[in-house]
Amino acid sequence: MKSMSSDAGLFEDDVPRNAGVVSVLLPVGVPGPYDYTVPLTMEVAHGDFVTVPLGPREVLGVVWGDASGEVGHNRLKPIIERLDVPPMTHVLRRFVDWIASYTLSPPGAVLRLAIRAPGALEPAAMRTVYRLDGDPPARMTPGREKVIAAAQDGFARTTRELAEAAGVSSSVVRGLIDAGTFEAIQLPADDPFGEPDITREGAILSEAQAFAADQLKQRLTQGGFSAQLLDGVTGSGKTEVYFEAVAQTLELGRQALILLPEIALTAQFLDRFEERFGCLPAEWHSDLSARERKRVWRGVADGSARVVVGARSALFLPFTHLGLIVVDEEHEGAFKQEEGVTYNARDMSVVRGSLGGFPVVLASATPSLETMANVWAGKYDHLVLPERHGPAVMPAVGAIDMRATPPERGEWLSPPLLRAMAEALAKGEQSMLFLNRRGYAPLTLCRTCGHRIECSQCDAWLVEHRFRKQLICHHCGFTAPVPRACPSCGEKDALIACGPGVERIAEEVVQKFPQARLALLSSDNLRGPEAHKNAIRQIVDHEVDIIVGTQIVAKGHNFPLLTVVGVVDADLGLENGDLRASERTFQLLHQVAGRAGRAERPGRVYLQTYIPEHPVMQALIEGARDPFLEREAAMRERTGYPPYGRLVALVISGPNPQQVQAVSRELARSHGPAEGIAVFGPAPAPLALLRGRHRVRFLVKAARTSPVQNYVAEWLGRVKIPNAVRVLVDVDPYSFL
Ligand code: ADP
Ligand code: ZN
Repeated sequence: MKSMSSDAGLFEDDVPRNAGVVSVLLPVGVPGPYDYTVPLTMEVAHGDFVTVPLGPREVLGVVWGDASGEVGHNRLKPIIERLDVPPMTHVLRRFVDWIASYTLSPPGAVLRLAIRAPGALEPAAMRTVYRLDGDPPARMTPGREKVIAAAQDGFARTTRELAEAAGVSSSVVRGLIDAGTFEAIQLPADDPFGEPDITREGAILSEAQAFAADQLKQRLTQGGFSAQLLDGVTGSGKTEVYFEAVAQTLELGRQALILLPEIALTAQFLDRFEERFGCLPAEWHSDLSARERKRVWRGVADGSARVVVGARSALFLPFTHLGLIVVDEEHEGAFKQEEGVTYNARDMSVVRGSLGGFPVVLASATPSLETMANVWAGKYDHLVLPERHGPAVMPAVGAIDMRATPPERGEWLSPPLLRAMAEALAKGEQSMLFLNRRGYAPLTLCRTCGHRIECSQCDAWLVEHRFRKQLICHHCGFTAPVPRACPSCGEKDALIACGPGVERIAEEVVQKFPQARLALLSSDNLRGPEAHKNAIRQIVDHEVDIIVGTQIVAKGHNFPLLTVVGVVDADLGLENGDLRASERTFQLLHQVAGRAGRAERPGRVYLQTYIPEHPVMQALIEGARDPFLEREAAMRERTGYPPYGRLVALVISGPNPQQVQAVSRELARSHGPAEGIAVFGPAPAPLALLRGRHRVRFLVKAARTSPVQNYVAEWLGRVKIPNAVRVLVDVDPYSFL
């Protein structure tokens, strides 16, 4: 029934217009919500969680809106149950719809992201604790006396805790409970979330920091959506500044979400948060146990989790009072989800902020061109922290021309870099060598016949991992022992390792500096956050002299004794033909360089390169970020590439190459002309074979204002795709694999 009350405006959207039938969105990959009837004994509002029949199954869904009326009333099935939990908010529902239409994903697939804490909607588990209450038992024993003595402090404990405190078996405790000596109390099984203490003093801010913090606070107090780029070199205090914004958000009675690009960065962050606010924030990432997931999901929904730090999927948590999102290291590619619903959490944070009407802060030392373009266009505020905090200064960056001073044959470290490392070692300082390549060697080659060992499931070389004595495919995870003989010509001992990975660099370091203590940091030998934390601690405590690492060491960490950073192959990222190759190489190397000299001792950074004249190297050496970005921007603007134009990638894949070809030909025939839109392809995807699937790619390039989503949706609607073939639509692609 339509609500007739005069203040209906406020609630109108949440009252179904056509009581009796509503549409329910289900977390399945279908084009939209389905209609269900509402039993007479039930009342539902938009956003309510319900269970409904779907074929033979019973599934969880959310009441999405009024009936679509597409299916006759008499053929509809009834809702089974309405769950007694807080409804999904209006903002979150609009967010789900927004992402679905932007990314061309089924809304149910997006909804799945928003209810991904299995069991979170069941009533919270309780546990029973006991407190001394009532008469002593008729029969006393020494064991019982111990239990009663232990319970005298008045604390409530579980049976097990009481038994442990008294040093007796649980049966003694149970006997006392049966005798009525204890009172049973029901408590939620989950620990409650800490309440951040905003009265604690933060850091004493420098002038630039205080100015930036004030701007953020003003935006928060003002209310409404806004976006700010917090742009400051590594170590300039961006975290300190946005902590002030978090404090202000809490003071306004709202929740805050901080997105970090990698779980590995969380540990150090948690310590800092605790130092500032006296308690830990809630955490959200893929490493959480199912139980912890439920706890966080509920805490966010009932508002007891005030601050969440998490990975991109935290955007879909059921906040009811969200008042701030901070995206730290906003330029990071890790914010882009590459499979399923291909969304960029940085961009979607801004959407969430605009739907929810609150500020979004993007922090980076090397902002993405997308974000800079928004700053230049006046859409985002620009808050700049120009200097490192305290005595630390930015490190001096220099190129080592590998043509002029090459390493010894079969080695990878040039004489000038080795000299700098030796000096640091002599002074009791640390060096770090960075190479973004896991394993020992990226290619194993037969000296006799020239055969290269490739993955049978992927269009990629197998990478030798010498510690694990294996060849590994970094794309599908396939492993094989390193063969003695060439698999092609059968020649024994003819296989040679080509090129370096971090393991090979570590081997060279051991050989050159046998007395130095070495740490090798890559995702292969640092499994899980604990191992990572431990490795970081060893470096901070100076139990290590030389660090060799992949991009895992590039970010966030603060090593006071680290003064020399060597980039083993600065040209590595420039080799692929990716649109953002220069931008990303600059970001990554700048980040790595930022590890050096974070305390009193000045740092030096050495870039080993064959192209020292390349604009990326020059920008790094001269510390000229903005001219570099402006040049990149001018080039993209001229060619109509993002952020001045838009791209959509379509990857067609399947196990049968002929079938994939056939679908691609059909697609190539079916796209019509449209103003400002061009379709390129089909072309073999850069990984033309991945996990056994053959891949072909189309790229749609569109002017910024062209309705490219509609265009792609209509195009795909014209072609029947066989079941075995998958079409991945990637709007604003980031990776071009
Ligand atoms: P960023 O996030 O920009 O890399 P951080 O916030 O991590 O910078 O700051 C770098 C280091 O300097 C941290 O150890 C931080 O605690 C310290 N720091 C920054 N600003 C201040 C300040 N105003 N007072 C004291 N310490 C500060
Ligand atoms: Zn593979």
